[in-house]
Amino acid sequence: MLDFTHDPTATAWLDSANAPDTDFPLQNLPFGRIRRAASGEEWRIGVAIGDAVLDLRRALALGRWTSVEQVLLEPLAQGDLNVHMARPSAQRRQLRHALFEALRAGSPQAARLSAALVPQADVEHSLPARVGDYTDFYAGIHHAEAVGRLFRPDNPLLPNYKWVPIGYHGRASSLVVSGTPVRRPWGQRKGPQDEVPTFAPSLRVDHELELALWVGPGNALGEPIPLAQADEHLFGVGLLNDWSARDIQPWEYQPLGPFLAKNFASTVSPWIVTWEALAPFRCPQERPEGDPPSLAYLDSAANRSQGGLDIQLEVWLTPAGGRPSRIATSNARHLYWTAAQLLTHHASNGCNLQPGDLLGTGTISGPSPEQAGSLLELTQGGKQAIVLSDGQTRIFLQDGDELALRAHAERAGAKRIGWGACSGRVSPAVPAA
Ligand code: MN
Repeated sequence: MLDFTHDPTATAWLDSANAPDTDFPLQNLPFGRIRRAASGEEWRIGVAIGDAVLDLRRALALGRWTSVEQVLLEPLAQGDLNVHMARPSAQRRQLRHALFEALRAGSPQAARLSAALVPQADVEHSLPARVGDYTDFYAGIHHAEAVGRLFRPDNPLLPNYKWVPIGYHGRASSLVVSGTPVRRPWGQRKGPQDEVPTFAPSLRVDHELELALWVGPGNALGEPIPLAQADEHLFGVGLLNDWSARDIQPWEYQPLGPFLAKNFASTVSPWIVTWEALAPFRCPQERPEGDPPSLAYLDSAANRSQGGLDIQLEVWLTPAGGRPSRIATSNARHLYWTAAQLLTHHASNGCNLQPGDLLGTGTISGPSPEQAGSLLELTQGGKQAIVLSDGQTRIFLQDGDELALRAHAERAGAKRIGWGACSGRVSPAVPAA
């Protein structure tokens, strides 16, 4: 649903929000949980604008708001995004409209609210919301095919893939916000030539390029969410690095699926771009000719014509003290299942989704080799090293490496919006006792 907040010609009274390459123009308005770095002050929700953050705690105190807007801002001022995620989409849209008007060039609020801005360089982040449950899907078909080919060259995709969205329940407690160091995990591994497994620090720490779908209101236990209502329950989209230990994974994953190879850390971006802000970047669902149609509960004309997301994705690797190298690019349009289908399928048995639940899409690789969303794929299963811009080579991540995901959406007739970075640096494993 497009409205005046998507007008690409609208500008903000803060100049940095009008720079052509900013991730955070007036049309974006993503939410994060912030405070001034090292201040020890209470957390509050902020909205990124240009190179600054509008501190909603100060904005509530300093700005002029209607009584309805004050009610919407109150929990955000207290640092609670979950309450806002639970609100009906009409109320979330109402707050977006109010923030847009307040930050728009010529707003009578400009003088009052300029005192509620904090430079982004001066804030620290926590996770944007409390995550009750985290589920990770496997909706990137090019990733599923490439990884499947490593194990089953003749039959890369399992027979269920094009019928049922595959996923597993992850672990919410080890989700961390961008910037948090990621410790190399210990784990059991057993190579094909090994007689018995060993327990040691992982030698194959990898990243996974994913989107984080943040759940809005959710559903009561036993009451599924029809596909036609899925949009109302999608609060927004972040970036997700589902760190993976590729030597622990193959030994432990059968028969119950991923476990300790995945839950030592998963990094999310500090900013959640709202579902409303993404309206101009919807695109047709990408499905090869001749694939089976989705079953009725996962199918609609609207989902086929505009269920996809045209979001450009990048993966950057920076060795300790070295230069950043862009090691992959991809696009969220390559996902086999749409965000609405993932959400609807998850609730289709009556499983209750709650505000702040997080659904990972699965690794979003594109069809060509340089669009691979993990090192496992980029190195063909660890057989072919990649070369970085400073000549160093990598098969998997080394201690001190920083891995950053970036994303933006860009289209004719729309203002470009972005996510900033979702990054983490690998730190050494706990020393042996
Ligand atoms: Mn994953």
